[in-house]
Amino acid sequence: MKTFNIALIPGDGIGPEVVAEGVKVLKAIEKLDSSISFTFTMFPWGCEYYIDNGKMMDDDGIDKLKTFDAIYLGAVGYPGVPDHISLWDLLLRIRKEFDQYVNLRPVTLLNQSLTPLKSKMEKDIDFLVIRENSEGEYAGAGERLFKGNQEEVVLQTGVFTRKGTERIIRYAYEEASKSNRTLTSISKGNALNYSMVFWDEVFDEIGKEYPDVKTYSYLVDAASLYFVTDPKKFEVVVTSNLFGDILTDLGAALTGGLGLATGANINPEKDFPSMFEPVHGSAPDIAGKGIANPIAAIWSVSQMLDFFGEKEWGEAVLSCIKDMLKETMQLTPDLGGSASTGEVGDRFVELLNEYA
Ligand code: ATP
Ligand code: MG
Repeated sequence: MKTFNIALIPGDGIGPEVVAEGVKVLKAIEKLDSSISFTFTMFPWGCEYYIDNGKMMDDDGIDKLKTFDAIYLGAVGYPGVPDHISLWDLLLRIRKEFDQYVNLRPVTLLNQSLTPLKSKMEKDIDFLVIRENSEGEYAGAGERLFKGNQEEVVLQTGVFTRKGTERIIRYAYEEASKSNRTLTSISKGNALNYSMVFWDEVFDEIGKEYPDVKTYSYLVDAASLYFVTDPKKFEVVVTSNLFGDILTDLGAALTGGLGLATGANINPEKDFPSMFEPVHGSAPDIAGKGIANPIAAIWSVSQMLDFFGEKEWGEAVLSCIKDMLKETMQLTPDLGGSASTGEVGDRFVELLNEYA
């Protein structure tokens, strides 16, 4: 029997609502497959915890999470708690402390009706964005000089280390090579004359180790255009922390919106737990109404199962998401349906039972 220990951080807003549905799916798998079991341990961290305790998570929170196989996160964010606090003190802290330097964000159109793109040619969208997740523009380095003066100068420094740049680019080459796909690097070497020139150099250097991988290199501005006009150009994409953040929201818009977009924060060496989360935030405007779309969170479960080496179950979950998307009325309002969050989860479990 394989047992996977999962730390749950449901967080704020719609986070707990969607995580509950993901857990429902994991429990259904446990019932269907006698060789797998999961344990779930809840951590009540997030902005409400911050309001009561003055901190987003326990001081020894990182120690508490260390021994788990995975962390399953809903969302953090709350009106009144500054975003940079909720982000830096929990989400970015976990990513950094556990060296989750790979962020895997699939941009996959699972049902043609979900894209705002009109021509048939543009609807062939299925690529993987590999976002650098530990440094770059999110290094937190900077300074405010002469604060409040007319002469004020604010520095926000991108930090690109050789180690950090090489490892993410090598990970992307490996992924492209083993899946026989092309690799596209997205950068901005014409304007960011230190960091992105370096990024491009490393991309070419590592490429020499992978003569079998066909590569492309685009500026981020041009790539944004191609995301919309010619998305089938892309198969595996590697890009920096900030560009990856922005481009994957664009990717989400092309493939059904935030209710479907997932992201895995991976520590490939498995020295520390990896973390799985929907891309969306706490969505306070719809929190508590029972209408949040849980499919992004369920897709995160698929990524988690892949990461555990349970590829068949990962694929089963993705396949059921595809089936689910055919039944418009069974979906939440963001996708044109009238179902509740819980009804989507229940219907999903029915589909999984039929599939197995
Ligand atoms: P946060 O401050 O935590 O990032 P936010 O207000 O930015 O929260 P997001 O979750 O990033 O909210 O999403 C923006 C909007 O997209 C939400 O206000 C909501 O209307 C919609 N949205 C996001 N996720 C979902 C979902 N799972 N189901 C339905 N609608 C969603
Ligand atoms: Mg947000």
